[in-house]
Amino acid sequence: MRLFDTHCHFERAHADEISSIVERARKVGVEKILAVGGSVALNEAALVARDKVGLLAAVGYDRDQINEKLPKIGEEKLSAWGEIGLDYYYSPDTKDKQKELFAMGLEEAKARDLPVVVHTRMADEDTLSILKEIPSRGIIHCFTGSVGFSKKLLDLGFYISYSGIVTFRAADNVRESASVVPDDRILIETDSPFLAPVPMRGKVNEPSFIEHTCRFLAELRGKTAEDFAELTFTNAEKVLCSK
Ligand SMILES: [Zn+2]
Repeated sequence: MRLFDTHCHFERAHADEISSIVERARKVGVEKILAVGGSVALNEAALVARDKVGLLAAVGYDRDQINEKLPKIGEEKLSAWGEIGLDYYYSPDTKDKQKELFAMGLEEAKARDLPVVVHTRMADEDTLSILKEIPSRGIIHCFTGSVGFSKKLLDLGFYISYSGIVTFRAADNVRESASVVPDDRILIETDSPFLAPVPMRGKVNEPSFIEHTCRFLAELRGKTAEDFAELTFTNAEKVLCSK
């Protein structure tokens, strides 16, 4: 079984620490990992993960950076741009600034011909209207929205990625969309170090735990874990490794 964790963060740019996390993941079949940025510190760690440990990297500025000084990113050899996006659950008071930064990120990705990694929470309408305004390709990560929202994102060409949240007891709404997204558009991720899946809840999440989310979703979708791992791996390669 080969697995692709399409979304993890490293909070510290320490090559040794990242290497040991990645080694544990390799042992359970995780062959590829996208290290995702979003702030100056996360971007730096993602680039160390790429340059010193051989992972794929995405950099960008997420919604929490609206009041930060954002240095221009001159990087090449990126696999994606992100994460970027809108979160009206945690920050409903800064919608306009979030929208502005999200649009800038999409333009930046477009100029570099990169897929984007999009975070969206409680912001369905604005996410859709900005994605229509600035046509983009890529991943909607850690999806927790409705079936209707997932269909609109699929219509725009996006891949939908599920984290360990789908294994949580109270997440019936997440399982609803996770059971109907087509086989050729679904992805899995850890979003580590957050959101460890059942049965690892309460632990610090890491890419090796993707196995649990894979097995859970395979069962939900009536597939073997091997088949589901393979199809999500192939999908991830299509969106992240096509250049
Ligand atoms: Zn993330």
